[in-house]
Amino acid sequence: MSAVQPQLNALFADAFRQLEPQRPTPAIEVRFYPYAGLNHTIRLRSGRVYVRLSDIFRDAPPNVQRALAFILVAKLLRRRTPQMHERVYREYATSPHVLRAADLARRQHGRKLISSARGTYHNLDRLFARLNRRYFDNELEKPTLTWSPRRTRRILGHHDPVHNTIVISKTLDAADGPEWFVEYILYHEMLHIKHPARLVNGRRLYHTKAFRAEEERYPLYREAQEWLNHIARERRTPRARAA
Ligand SMILES: [Zn+2]
Repeated sequence: MSAVQPQLNALFADAFRQLEPQRPTPAIEVRFYPYAGLNHTIRLRSGRVYVRLSDIFRDAPPNVQRALAFILVAKLLRRRTPQMHERVYREYATSPHVLRAADLARRQHGRKLISSARGTYHNLDRLFARLNRRYFDNELEKPTLTWSPRRTRRILGHHDPVHNTIVISKTLDAADGPEWFVEYILYHEMLHIKHPARLVNGRRLYHTKAFRAEEERYPLYREAQEWLNHIARERRTPRARAA
């Protein structure tokens, strides 16, 4: 649970004013919760409105938070939600980065896994320290580093800004998995810390030009791309990637 969110209260108050202009706006309390997945709740109790939002939406763009406010208030008032808001919300909630964050949150809640940076073959703490020294002037703050609980084959790495976590697929912690390749995947995720997603025309852009340019400067970048293709061919799956 986190502190009350005054700027979000304003969005909800605004939704009340627009959906039910004839009635005075109730007192509203909005908090983020580390919910499993993308659950949000809204309740009315003794004339006060309590909103609980999944903390995956903590860094959602303003228009998405606004859409969510309208959807929840409309639900409470048993009104139809304006279609535009449904669309904005759905588009964000089903974007790959949000789905992965939700998936990760669900697993952490469901299984109470203790995360570990130390795999059987590769140690993410050690690789992080080396990459940070070589390519980031030791300036990146260390996130939680962990191997994924399961072998995810398509997504080899993921940076979750909400939980400040980098997850690397357990698939890569293998005897025949070269260390330089694990290092490349981790490097890609570290670039996500250095280059936060930018809002472009209301959408989140994760792999900006600056991000791509820096990624290509990685000495084994070409080899890494070939290895990604190699993995895909071996498994007859669509090309694996770092997200
Ligand atoms: Zn990425």
